[in-house]
Amino acid sequence: MTDTPLLILGAAFSDEERDRLEAAHSAVYAASHDDIAVLSEDSRASVKALAFKGHNPLGGATMDLLPNLGLIANYGVGYDAINVEDASVRGIKVTNTPDVLNDDVADLAVGMMIAQSRNMVEGDAWVRSGKWATGENLPLNRKMSGSTVGIVGLGRIGRDIADRLAAFKMDIHYHARSEKETPGWTFHSDVVSLASAVDYLVIALVGGKATEKYVSREAIAALGPRGVIVNISRGSTIDEEALIEALENNTIAGAGLDVFNDEPKVDERFYALDNAVLQPHQGSGTVETRRAMAELQLANITAHLSGTDLLTPVN
Ligand code: NAP
Repeated sequence: MTDTPLLILGAAFSDEERDRLEAAHSAVYAASHDDIAVLSEDSRASVKALAFKGHNPLGGATMDLLPNLGLIANYGVGYDAINVEDASVRGIKVTNTPDVLNDDVADLAVGMMIAQSRNMVEGDAWVRSGKWATGENLPLNRKMSGSTVGIVGLGRIGRDIADRLAAFKMDIHYHARSEKETPGWTFHSDVVSLASAVDYLVIALVGGKATEKYVSREAIAALGPRGVIVNISRGSTIDEEALIEALENNTIAGAGLDVFNDEPKVDERFYALDNAVLQPHQGSGTVETRRAMAELQLANITAHLSGTDLLTPVN
């Protein structure tokens, strides 16, 4: 009888992350669903907890290969890749890693706003290419401090972004499903009304079916020609086709994007856009935060395997 209570699922795990999990619990590794299917019945039956990382869908068909699975511990706060309904009906708990990544994601959102407004990518190229040395000056760009911003989704990360932007003397507007307690920020009951009131629109929603294209073609149009869209949530939360058209036709001023549909093979039309700052989904990608996420994931696994309360359950 094998005794490997932990299954590590996902090619996205680094060697260091896998080593840490394997040092804590006897584990078996699988890159994908197909790797689990070829494990022995004995081995699959011994699995009680699953450590998950990545964006490949994880649904009931995979869960059914593991008859004694009681926990799926996600690495990341966004768990839209996991079918939580499928897990719940099978009595499987799901955990995520909230809060520990708020600072980094909020920092990147603000960083992209500044980079886009102050034309930092072109400025860097200007210096390196020697253009500056020949006496050519970078065209004047745009002041960000003091302008108006709309946050779509005032949850944990959205609020940390708003707090930072308040220090930039920005007028804060937001949309969420319900009005929140704020220091006087303006609530909008829909995204189109929010977009038409602001210069910068920052998306901090959860991903998944319920928020697909939540920032619609109409909302993008409402933002207008001075509008800048920043997305650190998921590519699915905005109408990406409408976004690309708006950037190509300059019907909005620009974008800062950390997330896309079909990552990492993003729509190649993005490559040609010089009014967008593009990042490879690295919102939480610092050494410190990735370690904190890994530790929280492991703490949830250890809690489940030792029969104590989960730290950050989502169902
Ligand atoms: P959160 O605290 O749960 O906040 C999510 C926000 O989404 C809330 O304001 C919530 O509105 C709103 N929302 C949820 N379901 C909705 C629905 N059906 N319709 C409309 N609005 C809905 O989540 P968080 O911790 O801030 O994280 C937000 C997301 O950021 C994650 O889910 C993840 O996808 C993304 N993320 C990205 C990175 C990156 O590397 N770029 C890193 C971490 C997280 P209410 O306030 O009305 O409930």
